[in-house]
Amino acid sequence: MINNILNKEQLTQQDIVSLLKTEGDDRQELFNFAAKVKEAYVQNKVYLRGLIEFSNICGKDCYYCGIRRSNTKVKRYDLSENDILNAAYYAYKNNYGSIVMQSGELKSDKFTKRITRLLEKIREFSNGELRVTLSCGEQSLEVFKEWFDAGADRYLLRIEASNKELYQKLHPHDMLHSYDLRLQAIKDLRKANYQVGTGVMIGLPYQTYEDLADDLLWMQSIDIDMVGMGPYLEHHDTPLYDVKDLLLPKEERFDLSLKMIAILRIMMKDINIAASTAMQTIHPLGREKAIAVGANVFMPNITPCYVRGEYKLYEDKPCTDESPEDCRACVENRIASVGNDVAYGEKGDSFHYVRRKRET
Ligand code: SAH
Repeated sequence: MINNILNKEQLTQQDIVSLLKTEGDDRQELFNFAAKVKEAYVQNKVYLRGLIEFSNICGKDCYYCGIRRSNTKVKRYDLSENDILNAAYYAYKNNYGSIVMQSGELKSDKFTKRITRLLEKIREFSNGELRVTLSCGEQSLEVFKEWFDAGADRYLLRIEASNKELYQKLHPHDMLHSYDLRLQAIKDLRKANYQVGTGVMIGLPYQTYEDLADDLLWMQSIDIDMVGMGPYLEHHDTPLYDVKDLLLPKEERFDLSLKMIAILRIMMKDINIAASTAMQTIHPLGREKAIAVGANVFMPNITPCYVRGEYKLYEDKPCTDESPEDCRACVENRIASVGNDVAYGEKGDSFHYVRRKRET
């Protein structure tokens, strides 16, 4: 019986570990409870973010990521300004309400200015109606501010693993991959007034149940507005592939991811939680399942087809051979299949953020 845990005001690490280990009826009860919390606090609707993966050029060398700098097998691309604006316009015209612009991680004046220019143009054609989330890595507070002023509303910067020792096992040991600086960047985003999103990978080598519980407690402690998290998926051409024998089977990583989403929904009732693409990689209905247990954000890929195959953070990434139009019909059906509605035309700000802004 997990009822007494579910109804607690504040979960402890041990409570969360127990929930992560539930099976059978208890597991179902966890999912049902999370679904009820979702309906009560953010309703059974799903916000769309058109995802534009505009460049796979990356200056970082994270041990798990397929587009890491040292992977010479990747064909690098950088979409033209026109391609990016067309994709953004597609989202606007189709009433998605918002987009996510994601890329590898670069820090340069040229990169900064380019994003600024794009943001200004998007604001211009959409009369400021299209919400923009950036996911372009760690930057200085000044750069975050410049982009915010140019029209970015939200920023996603995953901590990847909130346990510093685990983080260090997943990244090179240099200033470019410093845990402390990543944490600082997440704090700077808050200072720059963004709706701030973070997240972790689930089922990493060396990761324990306690680590996962601490990830959720950490998100709560920094009062995050949005979360995107999903299963870790090994990639052949990365150093972490060497320890793939340490991994849980993919189905278990998937199940843990569902539970993480459900528990987070119970802990942080009014935040936005994304159904990550990685979920769909393991299970064809992965994102729908995530929505059924608490997620309320869906990110249809609207990257132009001809580069999609090159943005492979992990292998078997789904939908790399479809066009945005194919995706639209498919998205509606997927979301309806779990009794949720697509919130067309809604900007989908995190209620949590709106409430915090009102209170301060
Ligand atoms: N460069 C940006 C965002 C691009 S990567 C940044 O650093 O913020 C987006 C996310 O993909 C990463 O934050 C990471 O959590 C996830 N990712 C990378 N490699 C992965 C893998 N092998 N399995 C699962 N998720 C992965």
